[in-house]
Amino acid sequence: MSKGDKKREFLFNKFSENLYFLEENGILPKEIEIEKGDYICPICLDKFTKEDLNQEVENPLSLEDAPPKSLGGSQILLTCERCNNRMGKDIDWHLTERLKEMDFHERISGAEMKGKFTLNVTVNGKIIVEENGITKAHLSEKNNNPETLEKYINIIKGKGVKEPYWEPNPTRVDSKKLQIAIIKNAYLLMFERFGYAFIFDKEYDRIREQLLNPESDIYPLDCWFKGPFPEERIGVPFLTENNMESIFALFRLSTKLSHRLFGVVLPLSGAKIERTILELKNRFEKEKKFSVEMMSFDDNYLTSLESVHLLLNYMNNRN
Ligand SMILES: [Zn+2]
Repeated sequence: MSKGDKKREFLFNKFSENLYFLEENGILPKEIEIEKGDYICPICLDKFTKEDLNQEVENPLSLEDAPPKSLGGSQILLTCERCNNRMGKDIDWHLTERLKEMDFHERISGAEMKGKFTLNVTVNGKIIVEENGITKAHLSEKNNNPETLEKYINIIKGKGVKEPYWEPNPTRVDSKKLQIAIIKNAYLLMFERFGYAFIFDKEYDRIREQLLNPESDIYPLDCWFKGPFPEERIGVPFLTENNMESIFALFRLSTKLSHRLFGVVLPLSGAKIERTILELKNRFEKEKKFSVEMMSFDDNYLTSLESVHLLLNYMNNRN
């Protein structure tokens, strides 16, 4: 058994047992029919069995990172390969790229940005942030016509020359895909924490549909916030303030140079999320900091019936 096989089996058992535990205790909605040993892909909600751990089958269960490995995350659950591919690398790329851009704009040492320098002639190069936030221009030998490059160097060495005009290359980040990548992380982290207890809820259908259809407008994409947040709340706490009750996935995204905290508001079962997002936006705008009552619990929602009941009671009392 390879390391990947072992990891897949471990995660399969973890969530498959949670699914059966909820079924046995009458917590799953009636329309969800499962047997012992089933696994439901948290994105498309298709049913799978242990046989689908075999990577040779048509649509096997595959390891899913949240956050993406390149941003410091790890493999926390299984999605089917089809979903994994559909919301995969392409979407994550936009998030990784935007974080690198932020590193540059915040002048973090080591960050760089490609662009063009113009001084009578235009050459390709990049600006690198060095220690103490000092920036230095680097010209590319590979991406320039050698004659143009020589001309530029001669001009810049000349007397009385002004600063070259610098223009960064236009960003290739698609802001919609970037936001969907953030929501995807939140949804997967939420599932890892709470399992199948309430993900069959209609409000969560909206999220899943949005993740699978990045071009459409299905779920409010402005449901995320960038820190500062209290580090000790990292995980999936609840927002417990009156009329703002919701789930809040709070996670760290790390580039090679920086760490940043992101928080995403997710609905409680049966409740629309738009009002909470709006209130948080207003408050954030006014107070310039994210201040709202938050609570986290140590409960194991995957295996403790008492905890699941508390959770569902809390949700139902809201509606
Ligand atoms: Zn799937």
